[in-house]
Amino acid sequence: MSQPGESVIIIGGGIIGIACAHYLSRAGYGVTVIEQGTVAGACSHGNCGYIAPSHVLPLTTPDAIGEAARSLFNPAAAFRVKPRADPAFLKWLWQFARRCNRRDMLSAAAHLHAILQSSAAEYAALLSDDPMGSQWRKAGLLYVFQTEEGLAAHAEEDRLLTEHFGVSARRIEGAELPQFDGALRSGLAGGYLYEDDTSVRADRLSKGWRRKLKDSGVRFIEHCSFEGLEKNGRIVRRILTSGGPMQADHYVLATGALSTQLAQHFGAALPIQPGKGYSITMEAPDHGPTHPMLLPEHHVGITPFDDGFRLGSMMEFAGYDRSIPKVRLQQLRSSAEPYLRAPLPETNQEEWFGWRPMTWDSLPIIGRAPALANALFATGHNMLGLTLAPATGRLVGEMIAGQTPHIDPEPYSPARFN
Ligand SMILES: Cc1cc2nc3c(=O)[nH]c(=O)nc-3n(C[C@H](O)[C@H](O)[C@H](O)COP(=O)(O)OP(=O)(O)OC[C@H]3O[C@@H](n4cnc5c(N)ncnc54)[C@H](O)[C@@H]3O)c2cc1C
Repeated sequence: MSQPGESVIIIGGGIIGIACAHYLSRAGYGVTVIEQGTVAGACSHGNCGYIAPSHVLPLTTPDAIGEAARSLFNPAAAFRVKPRADPAFLKWLWQFARRCNRRDMLSAAAHLHAILQSSAAEYAALLSDDPMGSQWRKAGLLYVFQTEEGLAAHAEEDRLLTEHFGVSARRIEGAELPQFDGALRSGLAGGYLYEDDTSVRADRLSKGWRRKLKDSGVRFIEHCSFEGLEKNGRIVRRILTSGGPMQADHYVLATGALSTQLAQHFGAALPIQPGKGYSITMEAPDHGPTHPMLLPEHHVGITPFDDGFRLGSMMEFAGYDRSIPKVRLQQLRSSAEPYLRAPLPETNQEEWFGWRPMTWDSLPIIGRAPALANALFATGHNMLGLTLAPATGRLVGEMIAGQTPHIDPEPYSPARFN
């Protein structure tokens, strides 16, 4: 049990660190966020911005292993595993593969569903009065299909979502799609609209949220890197950073895809692999998209903004690779074009990659460091970190305050890897 007024240092200023800062500051804690680069400059910057409670199914589906195996022979696959002899990765892959069955998929989905529902409600409460410049759109998320086969396969998935989790969509016939969103061409097979999903411009949300937190007293220290810690038994006494030692009553590690190495300082083995994705941001052309859309047959997302739109996709397991190959960006374009009425603008305003923090069971890692009394982890949010940020921040706040958590945190506990 701790008291408001105590201090917390959050390591990592991505969307998860920001959300933790929000709930802790609101509860009366003195919060400092340290960030090795710029706040929300890593994976939280250029993502698709979907707040997607419809994304209940984990990556560990029965089809995932076949898809990964096929990618070995197809460098253009959206889901791609680059073979490499890294023992940590091979162990991760083995654990991931073991879970690619219907029973484990449904079990992970049930745990995801709980935190997705909580997060969607938290976002609604947070953004309804003040969207913080995030360009929050309550337009749902439209899954669009080019082929009858793709549409039929999704009908199965939609039925599963409805029957098991009460998540249902409105079906839109192919002929209606061009009226529904003027960016779509005629001749598409159809779509499913998940009306409870919403979207933001991710970089604007974090910018606005940070500004608001700063105004309420949260300190953000950029270009300050966590390098180690000193402890007395089970208590972290202080952390060592590139800006010198820093001390607080509590510590939260929220360092996304880089957490595995850093968690070792806290005495924990967290299995996180970077799942690399790309996005390009463009000015809106005539007949630009107005609805957030997913094109599952090509694994591409389209997010409209007030002043442009973004295409995002790919899941590459290739280690901590920072390159942005032109061929992958071109692939984003050529995957989206068959669905669109007008050609895409020729120039990209921004070309980006991000490392998603991927766990082998598709669940986030939220909870106390098993070996320490005053340190917590808030990481491993896979493909859903933006969506899951508020529920994560709320859980972390409740855990530090010693309150009863608003949802069962057990499935997300770091102790599951012991
Ligand atoms: C193409 C793409 C599309 C996506 N679309 C969506 C979407 O539509 N909806 C959704 O919910 N999610 C989406 N995601 C996933 C989402 O972006 C991530 O899950 C989320 O950004 C993770 O947030 P984070 O705060 O954990 O990590 P990050 O944003 O990576 O933040 C971690 C921070 O920790 C800092 N850090 C690391 N080491 C140190 C250190 N030693 N000292 C100090 N600071 C340190 C890093 O610099 C970084 O800023 C997408 C991802 C990609 C790649």
